Amino acid sequence: MKIYKFGGSSIKNYKRIKNLSKVIKINKNNNKIIVLSAIGKNTNKLEKVVNNFFIKNKKNTYIQVLNIYKNHFKMIKNLFIKNNFIFKYIKFFFNEFIFFLKKKKSIKYHFIYDQIVGSGELISTKIVSEYLNLIGLKNFWLDCRNYIKTDNSYREAHVNWQQTKKKIKKINQNLFYITQGFIGADNNYFTTTFGREGSDYTASIFSFCLNAESQTTWKDVPGILNADPRFFFKKKIFKSLSYKETLELSYYGASVIHPKTLYPLKKKKIPLYIRSFIFPKKKGTLVSDKYINNVITSCFIVKKKQKFIFFYKKKFSFFLEKDISLIFKYISNYKINFFNSKFSN
Ligand code: ASP
Repeated sequence: MKIYKFGGSSIKNYKRIKNLSKVIKINKNNNKIIVLSAIGKNTNKLEKVVNNFFIKNKKNTYIQVLNIYKNHFKMIKNLFIKNNFIFKYIKFFFNEFIFFLKKKKSIKYHFIYDQIVGSGELISTKIVSEYLNLIGLKNFWLDCRNYIKTDNSYREAHVNWQQTKKKIKKINQNLFYITQGFIGADNNYFTTTFGREGSDYTASIFSFCLNAESQTTWKDVPGILNADPRFFFKKKIFKSLSYKETLELSYYGASVIHPKTLYPLKKKKIPLYIRSFIFPKKKGTLVSDKYINNVITSCFIVKKKQKFIFFYKKKFSFFLEKDISLIFKYISNYKINFFNSKFSN
């Protein structure tokens, strides 16, 4: 079985969805699972809904929801004929969404976040699955919350591997499925998420549990580059990289792949391809356990809006292990992304 992952930009408008169907047609084999993100930048928009909901700004909450609804509606108008069931489905989906917002009084931010933000993937997969079926690419829509089981650490869920493996192994490996990235479900069937950009990780979970033949991430870049194409004109593509090198790149902020993605693949030696959905015939980058002596030695990563925080003790004394552990405790409690720091005495 092959696992494909397509991010938000690969389905950001109806033309891109049509393009995705061409990529699928070129790669004809039937037995695959496609893991999809939310459409375009919808996850950001859904985050705004959550934030407005929490500051009790009803007007802005509903304006945002309406805006998201309109965008999806416009998209399906370009893909389906009028009486297709998807129109009713989208209306129903958003009605339920509004119902949830009206009824939910929970003050648990992370819980509400996952229920709202996770819906971006549910809707995008439904649209793409229906469209592919319409054009003859027969597939099954899979609600991954029935397969990926997690604890209830909302926004940063941990996979219950035992339960997840048992469930995923039941999937018929001869068929073609479309499913959601980024989300799972806890034991009470509430939606949980893996953190931003978590769809890559979802793909790896499926690959691991199914002993996949390979995993492919389809991106708008031709593969893994040694410099961010948004900032650098001259860049080179890596034809192959080891898991370790790729982990280093992603850890230091190259937006290639979610760092959690690599461990399940490395453990089962499943090759990962990074390829372009714009030039689907090109080979892209192969990530595997082979260490290749790359001729490209330097990589350039640009990270904007970084903050350096220096800690020192008020009383003239040394910064000890227990001080450091206290800081890390807060960093972890507040789910702060932590890249690099210096502790000075
Ligand atoms: N849609 C989620 C995000 O934008 C997850 C993903 O795309 O990987 O972060």
